[in-house]
Parts: sequence; C-alpha cells; structure tokens
Amino acid sequence: MTNLLDFDPAGLAAYFAQRGEKPFRARQVSRWVHQRFAADVGAMSDLAKGLRERLAGDVEIRAPAVIRDTTASDGTRKWLIDVGSANAIEAVYIPEDDRGTLCVSSQAGCALDCAFCSTGKQGFNRNLTTGEIVGQLWHANRALLADGIAAPWVDAGRAPITNVVMMGMGEPLANFEPVVRALKLMLDDNAYGLSRRRVTLSTSGIVPQIDRLSDECPVALAVSLHAPTDALRDRLVPINRVHPLADLMAACVRYVEKAPRDFVTFEYVMLDGVNDADSHAHELVALTRDVPCKLNLIPFNPFPGSEFRVSPRARILAFQRILADAGLVATVRKTRGDDIDAACGQLAGQVTDRTKRRFASRIPVVAAR
Ligand code: SAH
Ligand code: SF4
Repeated sequence: MTNLLDFDPAGLAAYFAQRGEKPFRARQVSRWVHQRFAADVGAMSDLAKGLRERLAGDVEIRAPAVIRDTTASDGTRKWLIDVGSANAIEAVYIPEDDRGTLCVSSQAGCALDCAFCSTGKQGFNRNLTTGEIVGQLWHANRALLADGIAAPWVDAGRAPITNVVMMGMGEPLANFEPVVRALKLMLDDNAYGLSRRRVTLSTSGIVPQIDRLSDECPVALAVSLHAPTDALRDRLVPINRVHPLADLMAACVRYVEKAPRDFVTFEYVMLDGVNDADSHAHELVALTRDVPCKLNLIPFNPFPGSEFRVSPRARILAFQRILADAGLVATVRKTRGDDIDAACGQLAGQVTDRTKRRFASRIPVVAAR
C-alpha cells in the first residue's frame, strides 16, 4: 500500500498523473488528508465514488503509532511514537496564548553526539520517512481536535498547530530529502498552509546542507551554536571539527540573504562553568557581529548520566545583559513540560515492552472533522 503521508505536493500530483487522474483531484485529496485529517479514502465524501474505489485498494493514510500520550501540568503534551524495531521518537505540543507549537523529530536517535544532548547519547538508529515526520503533525492536529482543544484560532477554523519547530530528536539536515518534503507539505496551501516564518528548522551546523536548504525550502533557521570559539565548540558540538565557526557564520550570512526572516536564531545552551563566563559573552558578540541574528539562551536540561549542570539563574541573566548591552537581542527560553521530560534535549524516546503492551490497545482512533 502507498502511504499518502509520504508524498510532498509535487509527488502527490505526479502519483495522480501517473494513475491517469486529473491534477485537481490530487489537491482535493491533499486537503482531505492534511486539512481535515481523514484517516481513509472512504471518508473523502466529495470525491467521486469511482475514484474512491480505485484509490482504496492502493493507498492508505498511515501515521506512526502513538504508544504513550502524556500531558504536563503546564499543558505541554508529549507523544511517544513507535517507529519499529524497538525505536521510538517524540513529538511535543507547546500551547501558548496566541499559538500552538509542535516540536517535531527528524531521526530516531542522532549520530552527531553533542556532549550535552540526551538524544545524542542514545546514538543513531535511523532516518525518519516523510510520512513519519509529517505524520507527527497530522496526528497532533487530529488528536487535539478530537479532544476539543479550546483556542481562538481553532474557533476561527484554523488547525490547532500554528507553528512547527524541527527541534525534536535528530539532526534534520542529516536527513535532508525526507525533511524537505515534509517542510514543503507544511508550507503548501493545500496541506498545512503555514507561512515560512512559522516553520523553524534547527541545525547543529552542517554547512553544505544549510546552503541546500536555502535553495530548496528556505524556512526560518535556528543554529545550535553553544560556544563562541572553535576550541570549545569542537568539544561540545563535534560537527564543528568538520564545519568550523568561520564557515558556519558565512553560511548563516548567505542564508539570511534568502531567508523568510531577516535573521538567524542562535541557540546557546547555558552550561555551568563551561560556556557561561562574561568572556564567552564578549566573544559571542564579536563572533556574531556580521550575522543578522537573535540569540536564544537555553537553560541546560539535565538528564540521567549527564556530566553538566545548568548555569545559575543570575549567571544566565548577567550573560544576557552583556549581549543586550552590545545591541544583541537575546532571550532566555522558558522551560516547558519539565514534569514529563519534554523539555529541549531531554527527548530520548525510551520505550519498554511494557509501555508497548499497555498502549497497544489504546492507539487513539478519532473522527475527522
Ligand atoms: N539536531 C538539531 C535539532 C534538535 S536539538 C540541533 O542540534 O539543532 C534542539 C535544541 O536543543 C538544540 O539547540 C540542542 O542543542 C538543544 N539541546 C540539546 N540537548 C539539550 C539539553 N540537555 N538542554 C538544553 N538544550 C539542549
Ligand atoms: Fe543531534 Fe542536535 Fe542532539 Fe547534537 S543537539 S546530538 S545534533 S539532536
């Protein structure tokens, strides 16, 4: 069976053309799948019966299976999703007053082994398919609607998820083609219809792929910086040994020339006594001088076995002040979903046979709107 979630807009059009169907039928089916969250062709009531019958034998809408669904005290919700062979990934919904953000995973595990990252510690399992990436968004929208989510934009007819950040498990630019296909669906008017500014891809800095992204699908870009010098970054973010800071900064400047936002967001995890001294802040100001950017300081989220501690609050604020005094926009990320381990860098996708058994009979079945 062909999974409709695996097609980007051009791919779906080509599939319909190859079957001898009219192009507008592909757009119609796309709206059923990605805007009305239909789970099977039979539900697509305004499609000619003949077409529905022709499709029914060949295609399916197969989102990855949710094996755990937890909601934190602050409303943050995490889905643990089975991707086979004892691998699991996580998607996290972060509700705010004016938006609903979904943090999406791109790989099961990650090969890049950043020193402070729980996903990295788990090693690399495999790349996700387009269907598994976009399936996270499809499932989150569907589940939130089924649960009767109360949000003004949903009352106005928009989908629950208004923003996507590719900041879950994995390095999105190391899984380039499936990720770009998923991004194209997020932007497409016959699918999720999000503006480029509402879709952010976070990378640890794979320079050639940053250039490719700017050619193929320039969404908002976040770069995990974490250190202002090569010596320190080599240790914290090992990909820096391949693509050092000078190359990374140059790639960011090139990206901004084409990007939907006129800045790059630099993420900087605050590690006590490692990268949080006044001198680091001054070096950071010098490093980013030529890059239109904003800085996001992320309090380190500890996980079992991690060798770092989070910088004290006063240290983070002092660091932020130095950046601000130099004219940089620097925010401190609010930590969300703490009590369910849904915060940045804590996603590890641990799945035991027990959770699998317990949830096997509870994979949510919800009606499309
Ligand atoms: N691989 C991509 C995207 C996923 S990680 C990347 O590295 O950018 C998303 C963000 O969480 C990155 O900025 C990453 O450096 C940060 N992060 C990883 N582990 C963390 C931790 N333990 N505490 C806080 N942030 C962390
Ligand atoms: Fe991979 Fe990003 Fe974690 Fe580094 S921080 S190990 S690139 S997921």
